[in-house]
Amino acid sequence: MGRYTGSVCRLCRREGEKLYLKGERCYSEKCGVERKPYGPGQHGKSRRGKPTEYGLQLREKQKARRIYGVLERQFRNYFAKAERQAGVTGANLLILLERRLDNVVYRLGFAGSRKEARQLVNHGHFLLNGKKATIPSMLVRVGDTIEVNPASKESPKFKEIQAQAAYKTPPEWLEMNADNLSGRVLAYPRREDIDVPIDEHLIVELYSR
Ligand code: SF4
Repeated sequence: MGRYTGSVCRLCRREGEKLYLKGERCYSEKCGVERKPYGPGQHGKSRRGKPTEYGLQLREKQKARRIYGVLERQFRNYFAKAERQAGVTGANLLILLERRLDNVVYRLGFAGSRKEARQLVNHGHFLLNGKKATIPSMLVRVGDTIEVNPASKESPKFKEIQAQAAYKTPPEWLEMNADNLSGRVLAYPRREDIDVPIDEHLIVELYSR
């Protein structure tokens, strides 16, 4: 199945909570969840029964996929990788998702949403360790540097991003330099550094069925 191209606010409404998929708009009164606090579609307002255990697990997995913009098969691959790693599988899964290049660009404050970050990476606006990187799913490593492509830095878009980045604070595991639009991976995130509303235990239970 291909990437979802419909309204992203619909995805938040389906989950019944804000997933912050649209950048600035998510913090305004135009937010879809604020304006229509019920599920999407014809039966969105009708009450649903108590969700089953499986239903809860499935929704949690869908929520995680939607937040990080990852397709089903990719998500399964991340899970398989997380299972092979030492430590807690659920935390490993979130840490892998956080290490995606598009997420790191978003966390550094160089894009308003992960979706925008993915587009900017796709269009060649970023260098990873000095080389053009156009694959949003690349996983960063400790010590990696991320920088806006010098060819893009003077564009009005990146001038605006630079002005906004100066007021943003990245998470502790990343370092950001707004002056030259660059960043560095200081460490891998710990679970407590990851502020996404996901109960990863439910995802582990889902895939353990
Ligand atoms: Fe979700 Fe943002 Fe749309 Fe609100 S504005 S429904 S948080 S994507």
